[in-house]
Amino acid sequence: MTAERSEQPVPPVTPLLLPSTTVDGHVHSTFSDDAVSSVDENLAAAVATGLTSVTFVDHVRSTTAWVPEMVATVRALSVSEGLEVRCGVETKLLDVHGRLDLPRDAVVGTGGLDVVLVGDHQFPGTDGPWSPSQTRARLADGLSAADAVDQLVAASVAAMVAQPGIQLAHWFSILPKVGLSEADLTDEHLHAWASAARETGSTLEVNEKWACPGPRAVRAALLAGASLVVATDSHDARDVGRYVRVPSILAAASVPGAPAALEGAGDRA
Ligand SMILES: [Zn+2]
Ligand SMILES: [Zn+2]
Repeated sequence: MTAERSEQPVPPVTPLLLPSTTVDGHVHSTFSDDAVSSVDENLAAAVATGLTSVTFVDHVRSTTAWVPEMVATVRALSVSEGLEVRCGVETKLLDVHGRLDLPRDAVVGTGGLDVVLVGDHQFPGTDGPWSPSQTRARLADGLSAADAVDQLVAASVAAMVAQPGIQLAHWFSILPKVGLSEADLTDEHLHAWASAARETGSTLEVNEKWACPGPRAVRAALLAGASLVVATDSHDARDVGRYVRVPSILAAASVPGAPAALEGAGDRA
C-alpha cells in the first residue's frame, strides 16, 4: 500500500523581528568622566542622525551624587517631535547574586529614571566583583571555563530577577577580557539568559562599541522573544546613532547557524 502524499502546505516561517537601528539605547555625556560630549551635543547629534529614540545614560557607582542633576538636565531638554528621549544610568554587576553598584537615588519611575543599564565591567564573583586579571588567575588556578560561564549566566539571571526591567549593556564583553569567548556558552546558557530577559521584562542590548553579544546570542534572544535594543555606547556625539558592526550582527543573527561572534569583535574605542 502506498501512502498518500500529503498536500498540506508548509506553515510560513515567521520572520524574526529585528530591533530598529533608528534607536540608540546607550549614549554617554560628560556626566561620565570618560565621555567628551554634553547632553545638548548628543541631542543635536541624535536629531541630525534622524533617530526616533535615544537613551542618555551615564556611569554611576553607589557613591555617585549627581543623578538628580543629570535627570533634571535631560528632562529640561527641548526635544523635537518624533524623537523620544529617555534617561538612565549605567552601573556594573557586582557578584553572582546579581547585586548592582547603584546609588540610592537611581530609581526608575515618575520623576526619576526610565531605565537602569547594567554592564559586565567586572566578572561577577562569588564574593564580589573579580577584575579580569583576578578572573584569569582563578581560571589558571583550576576554575573551569564551563564553571566560569555558568557563574556569569547565573549572575545575569539573578540580576534580571532581582531588578526586573534592567537593560543588559554590552553583555558578554567580559568574556574576551578573561580569555573566554561566547563560544564557551552552551545553547542552554543562552536560552536561560534570553528567557530570563523575556520573563523579567529586561532588555538585551546589541552594542556597537563592543560588537556584542554576537549573532548566536542575539539569535537566541530573538527566538526567546526577549526585548532587544541597539546601542552605540557612544562617548562622543559624533558616534551617536552610527552603526557599522550592529547591522552585521543582526543580519547574521537572523539566519540559522549564527556564529558566536563577529570577526574583530571587541572594544574599538
Ligand atoms: Zn559599559
Ligand atoms: Zn556605556
